[in-house]
Amino acid sequence: MSEKSETSKAQPTPVTVACGCNLTIDSPEVVPDPRYTLMGTLTLIWGVTARPKAIDFRCSRCGKNIHTARDEKTIREHIR
Ligand SMILES: [Zn+2]
Repeated sequence: MSEKSETSKAQPTPVTVACGCNLTIDSPEVVPDPRYTLMGTLTLIWGVTARPKAIDFRCSRCGKNIHTARDEKTIREHIR
């Protein structure tokens, strides 16, 4: 009922962002694309699991980057 009034200005980045296809990061067609540092890329080559510094959520249809997650919790959820 009061959903709109709940949207405060204290939230700088809206979680629900959609691309031109109207897909959000919850859509199966939006794929996480880990972004590694140069050092992280090197450790990947060595066979060590590196933690990406950020994860881009990219739409597999239009290729648009919908969201970039930098918090550790989200990053951990999307890497193995
Ligand atoms: Zn799209």
